[in-house]
Amino acid sequence: MSRAESAVREHAMRGPEPRALELEIPRPLAREGRAMGGRRRKKEGVVEGFRVLTLLYRVGELPAGVFQRLKELFKVYRAVAALYFWSKRLNLEEGVGLALERARQLPSYYRHAFDEDSRVYQFGEVEKMKRPRRVVLQLPLADALHYYCGAYIEDDKLIVRLGGGERLELPLPERALKWLQEKEREVAPLKVAKTVRVQWREDEHPELLKVQIVLRVERQKPVMPDPKGALLCYVDANSDYGIVAVYAVSDGTETRVLETPKLRPPNRSKRLKAAAKRQAAAAYGHKRGVNLALARLSKRFRARGWVKAAAAQIFKKAFQRASGRSVLMNFDIPDPESIKGSYLQKTLLSLEKVARNLANWFGVYVTFECYPSTRCPFCGSELEIVHTKRTRIAYCTRCGFYDDRDYVPFYHWVKELGLPMPKHPLRKLQLPEELKLLISSVRPGSPG
Ligand SMILES: [Zn+2]
Repeated sequence: MSRAESAVREHAMRGPEPRALELEIPRPLAREGRAMGGRRRKKEGVVEGFRVLTLLYRVGELPAGVFQRLKELFKVYRAVAALYFWSKRLNLEEGVGLALERARQLPSYYRHAFDEDSRVYQFGEVEKMKRPRRVVLQLPLADALHYYCGAYIEDDKLIVRLGGGERLELPLPERALKWLQEKEREVAPLKVAKTVRVQWREDEHPELLKVQIVLRVERQKPVMPDPKGALLCYVDANSDYGIVAVYAVSDGTETRVLETPKLRPPNRSKRLKAAAKRQAAAAYGHKRGVNLALARLSKRFRARGWVKAAAAQIFKKAFQRASGRSVLMNFDIPDPESIKGSYLQKTLLSLEKVARNLANWFGVYVTFECYPSTRCPFCGSELEIVHTKRTRIAYCTRCGFYDDRDYVPFYHWVKELGLPMPKHPLRKLQLPEELKLLISSVRPGSPG
């Protein structure tokens, strides 16, 4: 054991249990790509996918000395980064030089943030960057053998080197370790590049230290598989209440629907009730700001997490159903105008980013086309709608086609892929009496 190493041992302090564990997909993908990539000259035909593990630690439970050291590091880094950022933006070469000189106050591995060739370079496309509001220390996560690297995992701990022989030890829950292994397996034999981001904001949540492990995989852009013989997956987010998926296969003579799950955000009424309570409290002037913020949170923020989870579930099911076949997906995401006023609103729009990222991660060919839900896929007539307790049934008075309105775009997609239409309805429907009569009167001209 080297002298430095034993000094480290003496210092070694156990961190607290993380307060919360949140598995997510990075939200602003474009920014993520920039923030993470020095070497990232847009490579032709290559896509990158990310997965992010977020851990929150209570500052009060961290060893005080070590956290103080981290704070100092943030302070120095912020000053150097600001100088570097503005000098770059304003084309002041002296400033850049000065910043790099000052960066020497930082431990060597944190200086990579200013090294354009480094994987953790933080200032890519600086002229397009908004002024960075957050202080994020970003380090490569490597194995412990690379002595000078910033962070590594040792047993069930994440070790962040702070310079001067000090290190911050953060416990990693078993679930987090499992998740990391699982993600690496998902893309094997491709290699995952890992970075650690340490974030602390004095102004916003000074009591929480946010640590993220970002996994990044780079691969060839997937090509469109032959729809014949591929697993087809149509995802529709047009619906008022969530996401609808249709899984099917076709051999070119018959299109067989395997499953048609509908995903709804759980506990909607519970969340809305909680939000209403907060709003009422705010209306009485009781901690107004706080209550309004919490009301917004329980209405919207949770929904975002739900979209991520739902998208991950849709991909997982696609692979199960594919059992070795190629996967062909389409996400039908409405334009922002048409979704206004719906309670999922922006959250559903975020599905595109989430889905694109997952497709890149897994190497799945995905499109984002919208198909009509009000036009008959067989004869092109305008569809009528009848509401039952559970579903909105779309039907055609001309040819007798009917199905759950949420499945109608799927038929149009199948048609466009040049595949035979599936049998309708995709799932058994309870038809209202008057609709039964009407449809039987239209036959025998009926399709399917
Ligand atoms: Zn029709």
